[in-house]
Amino acid sequence: MKQFQYVKASSNAAVISAISKPGTKIIAGGTNLVDLMKRGVTAPDRLVDITHLPMKEISETMGNVMTMSIGALALNSVVAEHPRVKEMFPLLSMALHAGASPQLRNMATVGGNMMQRTRCTYFYDTAMPCNKREPGTGCGALGGINRMHAIFGTSEKCIAVHPSDMCVALAALDAKVEVSGPKGTRYIMFTDFHRLPGLTPQFDNTVASNELITRVIIPTNNFAKHSYYLKVRDRQSYAFALVSVAAALDIEGGVIKDARLAMGGVAHKPWRLFDAEKALIGKKPTEENFAHAARVAMQGAKAYKYNAFKLKLAPATITEALKQASGLA
Ligand code: SF4
Repeated sequence: MKQFQYVKASSNAAVISAISKPGTKIIAGGTNLVDLMKRGVTAPDRLVDITHLPMKEISETMGNVMTMSIGALALNSVVAEHPRVKEMFPLLSMALHAGASPQLRNMATVGGNMMQRTRCTYFYDTAMPCNKREPGTGCGALGGINRMHAIFGTSEKCIAVHPSDMCVALAALDAKVEVSGPKGTRYIMFTDFHRLPGLTPQFDNTVASNELITRVIIPTNNFAKHSYYLKVRDRQSYAFALVSVAAALDIEGGVIKDARLAMGGVAHKPWRLFDAEKALIGKKPTEENFAHAARVAMQGAKAYKYNAFKLKLAPATITEALKQASGLA
């Protein structure tokens, strides 16, 4: 591993100043970054440790809309087990429990989970071409073993998927991300935080290199009673999603008043299913209506040599997640 400088930042302002220098990266739980450094995928000159900064708080705020604020340094395990998170946003708790392993959840932070990089095997293998790791070298996965790869929003430069479960739930829950930088504080809708690969797959998200994620804010909703996170994977734990679905329904008088749906394991970002949500509103929570919404969700999907199974697995997972969320299953 390349030698690097290690500094502990004393404040958010000190972090923002430090990361403005090229070659500097933030480290918190380190559950992805250290792997990337060991394998030579990334080689920063300097790491800024932020673990001791006061950004672990989970709190509720009153205003026009009641919200929950989750500090960027809150641990995944703490968020997953927080009584108010479980009560208000069971979808988030379920998604966090579906991710990684207990040991990793005890180290990984909310901000780090958002910033984790794809697990495309070609990205990690420095002997292989990869436009994300080294722009302009090509994409090893396009003509390679692409079983885990995307079926939505791909480009000729990259077909990788975002690996997070937590982010799929946060995209479904209309969360927004607070970031601080030299120009002050700004907010990014969670669905706009991660990006599609396009011609520049080296960029995973829309946060600038001199900005620090400080917290995630989730507005309260009426989905707590009917939420479900369903993850389909090769083994029952410590595996990334082949397909996952975050489903949340607001059902009143036997009719779906509102719906939220997002998928993981299918795109370069958590894939929110806006059209399928619309298709559910005003309908009865039946298997037929769920299957119809799943068909709507699959419009525009495109498979590659080894991941065509996702074209059947994804709608089946959407239908099943909706059945579980509604209590039909
Ligand atoms: Fe690299 Fe993306 Fe291609 Fe994987 S899919 S090899 S991350 S460019």
